[in-house]
Amino acid sequence: MSATGPELGMSPLMAGDHNLSVAEARAAIAAALQPLHAPEQVPLAQALGRVLAADVLSPIDVPAHDNSAMDGYAFRGADLVQQQPAVLRAVGTLFAGAPWAGEVAAGECLRIMTGAVMPPGLDTVVPLELCRVEPGPDGDAVHIAPGVIRTGDNRRHRGEDLRAGLPALRAGRVLKPADLGLVASLGIAQVTVQRRLRVALFSTGNELRTLGQPLDAGSIYDSNRYSLMGALQRLGFEVLDLGLVADDPAALQATLADAMARADVVLTSGGVSMGDADHTREVLARLGEVAFWKVAMRPGRPFAFGPLQRETGAPPCWLFALPGNPVAALVTFYAFAREALLQLAGASAAPLPVLQARCTAAIRKRPGRTEFQRGVVEPAPEGGWQVRLTGSQGAGILRSMSEANALVVLAHEQASVAAGEMVDVWLFDGLH
Ligand code: AMP
Ligand code: MG
Repeated sequence: MSATGPELGMSPLMAGDHNLSVAEARAAIAAALQPLHAPEQVPLAQALGRVLAADVLSPIDVPAHDNSAMDGYAFRGADLVQQQPAVLRAVGTLFAGAPWAGEVAAGECLRIMTGAVMPPGLDTVVPLELCRVEPGPDGDAVHIAPGVIRTGDNRRHRGEDLRAGLPALRAGRVLKPADLGLVASLGIAQVTVQRRLRVALFSTGNELRTLGQPLDAGSIYDSNRYSLMGALQRLGFEVLDLGLVADDPAALQATLADAMARADVVLTSGGVSMGDADHTREVLARLGEVAFWKVAMRPGRPFAFGPLQRETGAPPCWLFALPGNPVAALVTFYAFAREALLQLAGASAAPLPVLQARCTAAIRKRPGRTEFQRGVVEPAPEGGWQVRLTGSQGAGILRSMSEANALVVLAHEQASVAAGEMVDVWLFDGLH
């Protein structure tokens, strides 16, 4: 914690100005946050993307019975003969969902379908394609060549997927499609999840216009609200869209007060540089303990974070004030806000996947700050992955982000990269 000052190590939320590395800023945010705990029940069909608030315990063994993994013939492994073909007499057919009621004697077998319950005494299934079947007067003769099958093959065991009484899924899990199927396989129709995190979102800047308004001289459309709304929706959060706020302390104070009353988090862009003007610092100092961080990164400075205090006893509402440049707003979202918001939502650690890719071009970089370049990760002709940068990398050039599927992350101490070197990339596309 070189440049951070001792007090920040103790309490990362002390209002004031701090110089931090990206890693220090991420750690300080993670250390400050307390996850939400507000469980509610939802029907399984509406639980995709929600965060489990309690372990899901399996009430049953899955599968509930030993069953066949193949279409074939079920028999006793003891009927296999060393070095010689086994010949078994087929005495019936067994379908999934219709257990066999009769007896099967030694030397006999049953035609069995995938998923059908293994009859008592039978322990092995030979797949159809591994045997030769000859019709006979009292049942088909099934020939199994020596060595093609061993006792126990192709039998799924009761409880091999999930055991009764044990957790099938842990609290903190963000439910994905396979999880919904898993819960359904247990016969469970409702799950206990955290209520959705409520995030109030607004943009600041006198130059911003909202969609539908005409663009007068010097004004631009507010794009950050849409990028950030998309990022928040993809994470499954409830977004309170508070629109545009002028660079005016009274308007800022009123909007923040409204946001604090209704949301767990306030996410803003622009004017953090809010800190540039003393009056915005005064507004924030009145409402909570927001720190202004000069994080050693590019793009992305400046960035402010801290608790806005509600009435005593209530958990704070957390302010993430991102820079206004459209690329910087998204980069800081991925670098600082994404995991923090998931943590607040009660989710277990969910960092963006990091992979190593061969960089197709040289990148100039000076040590002492983390740099985020926008790139497209794609399969390399020689195998593995390569990453190419998406054109001009200015912090205002949103197209560089729109075309990208990943961030090339050049670490704090790293110097320039030569073409062909391996670099770290954070995948952000197609994921939440
Ligand atoms: P700021 O952080 O307010 O100094 O803004 C930095 C740059 O980002 C300025 O050029 C702003 O016009 C631009 N900017 C700020 N907010 C937005 C926004 N919501 N949408 C698009 N551009 C923005
Ligand atoms: Mg501004």
